[in-house]
Amino acid sequence: MQETLLLKCGELVLKGLNRAKFEDRLISALRHRLRDCGGCAITSSQSTITVRPDDENFDMDSAVEICKKVFGLVSLCRAAVCEKNMDEICAIAPEYLADTLRAARTFKVEAKRSDKRFPLKSPEIMREVGGCLLSHFPHLKVDVHNPEITVRVEIRDKDAYIHTDPLPGAGGLPVGINGRAGLLISGGIDSPVAAYMMARRGLTLHAIHFFSYPYTSQRALDKVKKLLSIVARWSGPIQFTVVPFTHLQEEIRDHCPEYLSTLILRRFMVRAAEAVARDNGCAALVTGESLGQVASQTLLALGCTDAVCNMPIFRPLIGMDKSDIVKIARQIDTFETSILPYEDCCTVFTPRHPETKPKLAQVEAGEAMIDGEALLAEALSQVYTERIVADQV
Ligand code: ATP
Ligand code: MG
Repeated sequence: MQETLLLKCGELVLKGLNRAKFEDRLISALRHRLRDCGGCAITSSQSTITVRPDDENFDMDSAVEICKKVFGLVSLCRAAVCEKNMDEICAIAPEYLADTLRAARTFKVEAKRSDKRFPLKSPEIMREVGGCLLSHFPHLKVDVHNPEITVRVEIRDKDAYIHTDPLPGAGGLPVGINGRAGLLISGGIDSPVAAYMMARRGLTLHAIHFFSYPYTSQRALDKVKKLLSIVARWSGPIQFTVVPFTHLQEEIRDHCPEYLSTLILRRFMVRAAEAVARDNGCAALVTGESLGQVASQTLLALGCTDAVCNMPIFRPLIGMDKSDIVKIARQIDTFETSILPYEDCCTVFTPRHPETKPKLAQVEAGEAMIDGEALLAEALSQVYTERIVADQV
């Protein structure tokens, strides 16, 4: 018996003329991600992508796990492939679903016939397959309203498929179809969630981290890399640029007004991030900021930060409560790493009374106490970039 994976494309089907391009992007992502599972043919038709193994040792279990993390897919089904005739369907269904049906008490059959030339109509297919399954598993009862198992039979162009309920896919759009963005990543809870959310909207991320050694430790940097390697399970490999910020931070601490220091630091972070982002073909920045979470994320503070940036800054968490952010962090498995207690450069010289209603002129005056341009150029001359890959499938 041949098994295959049926992957349903989500919003992609809405994209008119671009649809073919998006599907191609999705197929090449799948080809890359499934490369270690064994030989398979990946094709698409009728808004379904089919992954059909062409080697006996194809690792279907791993392939399912991988496909669950590919953005652009709304659902996936592991299905038996049959010839399009009722004898074959009724022979394969009880064999393929034996374990599942033995463990169930109630079931129903649903049929979908996208090939209208097939001689039986959907209700007839349902009746015939239902009868056949009842004869093989006499303990089962049909329950059309609330069945434990729904057996689905699809009659498509080339083949028929038998499967049970689809598994949920990762949703969103294929990574890369919306271009590239620079991600400001700290070691906290928020920015990895922001990364996941924007990769899910089709952005390729270029991560940027500000590192203030020795105030922040090598372990803090390793933690950021670990977080990115978890995000990469969904987004695919991430380019990661580290920007040394120690000297700039010391100058801010020593010369700028303390109550504005975090905000001034954030303005330099955004300036540096924009430069790195532009150098790497990005057209936007992404941060994990959330309105009112801390002093530098009040409305007026965000305005002062945006004033130094000429790219859109995407803040996908802006309207979310911390508890909602934590929920996603747990789902994507970044939470336990995020709460490891290493310092971030934003927290090493925190002012006692940060300004929550800053005026732009005041911030600009405070910032003028240091030679920002030279310090920025110095930091940017010391950046280094590496590639972070997923830590597991
Ligand atoms: P996180 O927001 O990731 O949980 P946090 O809440 O400790 O960490 P904030 O001080 O709220 O960090 O920073 C707000 C945002 O600024 C972060 O979400 C991140 O996008 C960016 N950011 C903070 N620190 C750094 C850093 N060291 N390098 C790069 N970006 C940073
Ligand atoms: Mg935060």
